[in-house]
Amino acid sequence: MKVAFFDRDGTIIEDYPDEKWTGITEPVFLRGAIDTLLQVRQRGYEIIIITNQYLINEGFITWEQYKEIQVKMVNELEKQHVDILAVYYCPHGRNEGCGCCKPETGMMLQALDQYPSIDLKRSFVIGDSVVDMELARRMGMKGFGINVTIPKSHPNIKQVSEVSELLRYI
Ligand SMILES: [Mg+2]
Ligand SMILES: [Zn+2]
Repeated sequence: MKVAFFDRDGTIIEDYPDEKWTGITEPVFLRGAIDTLLQVRQRGYEIIIITNQYLINEGFITWEQYKEIQVKMVNELEKQHVDILAVYYCPHGRNEGCGCCKPETGMMLQALDQYPSIDLKRSFVIGDSVVDMELARRMGMKGFGINVTIPKSHPNIKQVSEVSELLRYI
């Protein structure tokens, strides 16, 4: 199967400076995100979300708070007929040296383990950070970076100016 790997914060929902996350309990969808997810599904992709949540172990938000935002987001997407195959998150702090914090490949390997029929060549990563694009590069996948400056050495990686722009390329 082909999978669209979506980053969460800054890609599907609003992202904030770390300290501001402490007061956040509701997801705020970015312009065009729900419609893009819907169209990606209609084009035959499964959707998996992979998100770095160092906010948890670094003490900016609690695990319960992460969960609350996550559940509200997935419920709203379901209401809009967007079904999400799986969500993987890394709770570790940035200096813990874990194997799952993007650009480390742990969450991707977990997905491949759980869904062996994923065809990476037909799949892609979309995110708003250089770590998302580095993950795509490490996995040999296509990547779409929302306002990420792409070095010339990444021929499979394209810069887009908003999430919906990826629909031109898939
Ligand atoms: Mg992001
Ligand atoms: Zn981790």
